[in-house]
Amino acid sequence: MPHLQYSGLNLSRDVDFTTMDHLGDNGCSCVILHVKKDKILCDIDDENISLSLSSYNKDSIQGEILFLGALDDRYYFVEAGTDGVQKDTQKYMSIRAVTQQLSSFESALAAYAKGLLEWHETHRFCPACGSANTLQQFGALRICTNESCRKESYPRINPAVIMLVEAEVGDQTKVLLAHHRHYRKGHYSTLAGYLSLGESLEDAVRREVWEETRVRVSNVQYCGSQPWSFSGSIMILFTAKAETTAIEPDGVEVIDARWFSRNEIIERKLFSSPDSASGYLIKAWLEKDADDCEEALKVDPSKG
Ligand SMILES: [Zn+2]
Repeated sequence: MPHLQYSGLNLSRDVDFTTMDHLGDNGCSCVILHVKKDKILCDIDDENISLSLSSYNKDSIQGEILFLGALDDRYYFVEAGTDGVQKDTQKYMSIRAVTQQLSSFESALAAYAKGLLEWHETHRFCPACGSANTLQQFGALRICTNESCRKESYPRINPAVIMLVEAEVGDQTKVLLAHHRHYRKGHYSTLAGYLSLGESLEDAVRREVWEETRVRVSNVQYCGSQPWSFSGSIMILFTAKAETTAIEPDGVEVIDARWFSRNEIIERKLFSSPDSASGYLIKAWLEKDADDCEEALKVDPSKG
């Protein structure tokens, strides 16, 4: 089975942040990523790019520092805005661009750090009374400084559903894939959309498919989730069965939508976004009926 990409950090805050300087005493290390707006500090050598991780040093911290999580005895933090460059081999790189060149873990870590920083940067003031918010617990929340208010604000996540819709069309089992307005020519992927207030996840799946393609679906089944930190979202994955097969794209977001067979998907390499939830859903569907389709699923990088 394909896997969903995310950082896998343990976000548990059972850490005594008041004794930060002693976190390393038990053999653990504290490392800091440096982010400036849309860029993250990277180490670059002739062939590889990796995230620059500097050791935590209380005296060198200049800006706000946020706790990201822990993995393998290492605590990850991100510091915003300050210049972390210490060597010639370090450079701030566009997070969007560099994630293509980082390992899966570092790519997810960079996106997560950016998403968390962005929330903090846009919540410097209390939404209730407009007073300044202060950072608490290394980024777990912000609290209003107005003594008569003290409203707490927590980093918000926007849930989105993404779904693979399956139907029997003619004598074949096919899936519904859509070409969105902003896609490159010839690219199709699964339908997706944000949850509305007051709506269940299953209702959101049924509504989004109906709104974008006028296909009615049932038998909505949960099959995983993936943080999508660039937009502060979490993608919640579903499969669904179509009750109708006539397609009418909404013409606004979805320009075209079609039923694709297994062979058409493989020929057109429509599963080729390896880290995306859409790619995961399509690959999982392809592999479901195949004992050995590893060769067929290999992506030819030259055809991107
Ligand atoms: Zn307030």
